[in-house]
Amino acid sequence: MAGGHTTVIQRVLERRGQRPPASDEGTTATVAVMVRVLPPPKALLAFQDVPMRAFMERRVRPDMLDCESAADEAEALRCFEAEFRPVVLTDNPELVRKIRARPAQRAPYILYVAELDESAEREAGLSAGADDCVGRRVSDQEFEARVGAAKRIAELEAVLRITLAENRKLSATDDLTKVASRRFFGKHFPREVERAARYGRALSLALCDIDNFKKINDTLGHAAGDDILRQFGPRLQRQLRKGVDWVARIGGEEFAIVMPETDYQSAVGVARKLRAAVGHAAFRATSKKLEVTASFGVCGMDRVPVGEGRLAERVMKIADAALYRSKKDGRNRVTAAILKGRGG
Ligand code: GH3
Ligand code: MG
Ligand code: MG
Repeated sequence: MAGGHTTVIQRVLERRGQRPPASDEGTTATVAVMVRVLPPPKALLAFQDVPMRAFMERRVRPDMLDCESAADEAEALRCFEAEFRPVVLTDNPELVRKIRARPAQRAPYILYVAELDESAEREAGLSAGADDCVGRRVSDQEFEARVGAAKRIAELEAVLRITLAENRKLSATDDLTKVASRRFFGKHFPREVERAARYGRALSLALCDIDNFKKINDTLGHAAGDDILRQFGPRLQRQLRKGVDWVARIGGEEFAIVMPETDYQSAVGVARKLRAAVGHAAFRATSKKLEVTASFGVCGMDRVPVGEGRLAERVMKIADAALYRSKKDGRNRVTAAILKGRGG
């Protein structure tokens, strides 16, 4: 082009080209720290051959893996059922097969130790489901390298699990119920209160706690409890005004319902509607149908007062006390309180 004009995009690209590439040093360092502070991964040694067992118990040092040794296949499986071990070292292909056949979600790294360092033996271990295979007579160096690989995979899996759990905590939505998370509520409810105070608007909060939920878990199992929670969030949300009212899961079986532009009397009406929506149709828990009820506590403000310190916290406290009253009075009910500003 005459005059060598460059477009804005070209200039941006050139500038970007001069910048050093984004570094992932921070991430690498974080993973390194996490790995360093983790205790050594737990491992199960399961050797049928007695001299080999003794040899392996000596060979795997405590700084490599945190080992427990099982005398036979049955004991190994028992140990494994009692507590998951991310690493298994064994000379028993049958055990490898049985561990792999478990329907569990987590699978350990299995190092098969062959009697003879021959390809047929190695194949037997690998085809049973082992991740790696080593002959018992390999050098210490090779053995350590193979155990080191097992350890590294176990450590990375642990880091991944921790990170996923932390991410879930940081997330704005609750995984199980698909409503807002506790974290989101903690951040945005005070903002709702501030905004309503600024414009002198109405705002109400309802807290909801499922009745006798522990009994559901105890009699039908935790999975059934989860089934109910999964349906519970969306069932509340469906009763509310789209894009205005919102629900958050603030505890195990506790929910908060934020109702902007909603005065005390209307909020009581909404809470009653929610209570009915919970109690009037059964929930599906695994394959059963189950009646569930919930108790509600409302704090309503017809006009959110200005200049009140820690107002969001106070609203929570008042709603919580109302919820407590609902529980005390027999559950499956709505109790409400009104909050007025100073002099109002
Ligand atoms: P109340 O009517 O007084 O509220 O009785 P409750 O049994 O509902 O109350 P409590 O607080 O004693 O028990 C709540 C139970 O909720 C205990 C806990 O195991 C269970 N829970 C918490 N989070 C979860 C979850 O994510 N899934 C399942 N299935 N249960 C959960
Ligand atoms: Mg509770
Ligand atoms: Mg409860």
